[in-house]
Amino acid sequence: MGGMHPSVAGLIEEAREGESFLGRLESRLSRSYSSARGERSRAVLRVQAVALRAIRDFLDSRGFLELLPPIIGPVTDPGIRGARQVSFDYYGREYRVMSSAILYKQAAATALGRIYFVSPNVRLEPPETALTGRHLTEFVQVDVEAAGMDYLGAMDLAEDLIRHVIRAVREESARELEALGRELPECAAPFPRIPHREAVGILRSMGLEADGGSEISWEGEVALSSRFDTPFFVYDYPAGSRGFYDREDPDRPGILRDFDALYPEGFGEAVSGAEREYEYERVAARMRDSGEDPSRYGWYMEMLREGIEPSAGFGIGVERLTRFLCGLEGVWEARFCPKVAGIHSP
Ligand code: AMP
Ligand code: MG
Repeated sequence: MGGMHPSVAGLIEEAREGESFLGRLESRLSRSYSSARGERSRAVLRVQAVALRAIRDFLDSRGFLELLPPIIGPVTDPGIRGARQVSFDYYGREYRVMSSAILYKQAAATALGRIYFVSPNVRLEPPETALTGRHLTEFVQVDVEAAGMDYLGAMDLAEDLIRHVIRAVREESARELEALGRELPECAAPFPRIPHREAVGILRSMGLEADGGSEISWEGEVALSSRFDTPFFVYDYPAGSRGFYDREDPDRPGILRDFDALYPEGFGEAVSGAEREYEYERVAARMRDSGEDPSRYGWYMEMLREGIEPSAGFGIGVERLTRFLCGLEGVWEARFCPKVAGIHSP
């Protein structure tokens, strides 16, 4: 058990002052082309490059094939909390920019077994996310999927991946970490694994509001994450709290075979993952439950009707990973020319 990292604590303090914080962020981002010239930014981007290479090395060594990511398509991930999708006219039809490549991951795992995308995603997050320190409107996630894997296997894989990246960054980026004043925690295995139900209990015991039937709020995630000094998992989210593609446990109705990994020290969500629904009827029912219309999912439903492999996987956000590795205040420091909700920057 640990405490909150000073960056996160500082951010929360400043977020209370809302306007002045936003003003400073806005003026910083308006010149993002030049703020990337400083030593600090250079150190961060070098750590990020090492982390990305470590991710690829790790996944390649486990037999995963990197595919070029789809960027646009007729449908994309609807399961994005509060964010809007970007759609545009594609030769007379409405297409969307990927908010995540989840639907394509299931197709790719069926075709090729073990795959990953380094996948650019666009989500028009609500303006208040400018204050969370962990939301960008344009970000990259490494999106991993394996046919025949279950969600426990996906958790093991995510844990091994995160530990591999931390080891690589400790070894190869010692100078950058020192320049950034960052002492990366040890992150020994195994990472604690807490069912969602227990996470809700812990939050309530801390005097925070937590709903047993929905995702944990970002304040809740920060509070929970401040109690740990290694990454940890929350698993078995309640049905209705996540996208229709997270598989509901056939033996435990109402419980999803899914998880998040969270960073320690208050940095919050690192990874979301799950075993997938893959049977046409079940997917259609889950879509209807979440207010989605199956007939809008043309090719995806056709593919399910023909049959696909069961699979599991996860996505890890590269900017949030970098934020944690470097101990940064916000994800806007973790990419070149970042885009933050509500701010018009280069
Ligand atoms: P999600 O599908 O929302 O669970 O997103 C998958 C992963 O992408 C998350 O675990 C984060 O690491 C990352 N991510 C999601 N939304 C954002 C965002 N707005 N900005 C930066 N990273 C994000
Ligand atoms: Mg998530």
